Amino acid sequence: MAVKTLEDLLADGVEGRGVLVRSDLNVPLDDDGNISDPGRIIASVPTLQKLADAGAKVIVTAHLGRPKDGPDPKFSLAPVAAALGEKLGRHVQLAGDVVGTDALARAEGLTDGDVLLLENIRFEPRETSKDDDERLALAKSLVELVGDDGAFVSDGFGVVHRKQASVYDVATLLPHYAGTLVATEVEVLEQLTSSTERPYAVVLGGSKVSDKLAVIENLATKADSIVIGGGMCFTFLAAQGVSVGNSLLQEEMIDTCKKLLEDYGDVIHLPVDIVVAKEFAADSPPSTVSATEIPDGTMGLDIGPESVKRFTALLSNAKTVFWNGPMGVFEFPEFAAGTKGVAEAIIGATAKGAFSVVGGGDSAAAVRQLGLPEDGFSHISTGGGASLEYLEGKTLPGIQIISSASPSS
Ligand code: ADP
Ligand code: MG
Repeated sequence: MAVKTLEDLLADGVEGRGVLVRSDLNVPLDDDGNISDPGRIIASVPTLQKLADAGAKVIVTAHLGRPKDGPDPKFSLAPVAAALGEKLGRHVQLAGDVVGTDALARAEGLTDGDVLLLENIRFEPRETSKDDDERLALAKSLVELVGDDGAFVSDGFGVVHRKQASVYDVATLLPHYAGTLVATEVEVLEQLTSSTERPYAVVLGGSKVSDKLAVIENLATKADSIVIGGGMCFTFLAAQGVSVGNSLLQEEMIDTCKKLLEDYGDVIHLPVDIVVAKEFAADSPPSTVSATEIPDGTMGLDIGPESVKRFTALLSNAKTVFWNGPMGVFEFPEFAAGTKGVAEAIIGATAKGAFSVVGGGDSAAAVRQLGLPEDGFSHISTGGGASLEYLEGKTLPGIQIISSASPSS
């Protein structure tokens, strides 16, 4: 069955109705608690705007970070409520709790077009509980806030791979719809897995090797080239018997990488030169070495210029590109050239008509931080883990549940 969309909900009528929206507002905060990249807030605006404009009583639920033991002011959504209000051009109330007395009182006081943000849903341990009953109980409390004729809009793409109360269980209780963000993301991912125009190039980097091996496994038979940089390339280099010094290395993954290189050696491309430094620090002097001659006592923090050149050649004629994970520690300007170079190659391919998708929070942040044009890519995804799991061929619980029939329709 097809997923119902926000347009379907608007057609059903929302004026005066309570609508619960699960958004992904999990933005990075700097040491002073300021939002360092508002990308996810901006991406959440269209759905909320349309609902508020149509006169819904909008109740937004979202998480921020990973609070450990209940409410913690460090993880309050207060700065997010302020930023969201600014982007929406209307006041966004913040409830002092998740589903407690303050949230209930505020929900009851909403008038048409009002927007209420509930406090960090992960202040409630039941949100992420493995116990179905515990999650369902929290979902019921969320449903109480929007009332009997309420609706649920799933718009937090970054969390749809999680079976959590505000993502999965609420959808079992309310008529449910995909928000515009989730609908767009799924459409884009479909395009990356079926009817893909070739050559298809996949660019992988970042720090979490283990997260990305399953994607390589799944895309190796679909892609024409898989280009690997970032922290994860060192486990592959180690699998080739190269000494990688103090570079990021996941030893328990070396065998898996060896196997991938055996099976897909003609598809996988590794860097040929590396920018190394003695410390993991912005001011540690960089030097470029051959990928097979990383000196002891140094660590690889970026791919080198010759690698950028080779990767660019592979990317220049691609018709489809998926990029996840920076090529180096782009947060340090001396080690950002690899990420910038590869991003520019993807932008070049896009200008020539390629369909390009950037997935991953840090990759998207890199695009903005390096001053690259966001519209140089066909799509910048808001969900790293979710897009990776989709590309691995996994079923995403949050998508599966909104694809099934609504409980009361
Ligand atoms: P994404 O969020 O795009 O999926 P990841 O979270 O996997 O990406 O990885 C992003 C992080 O990887 C960045 O903070 C970057 O500094 C780090 N990184 C990239 N290359 C290296 C490297 N060679 N050594 C250590 N960290 C790296
Ligand atoms: Mg990341």
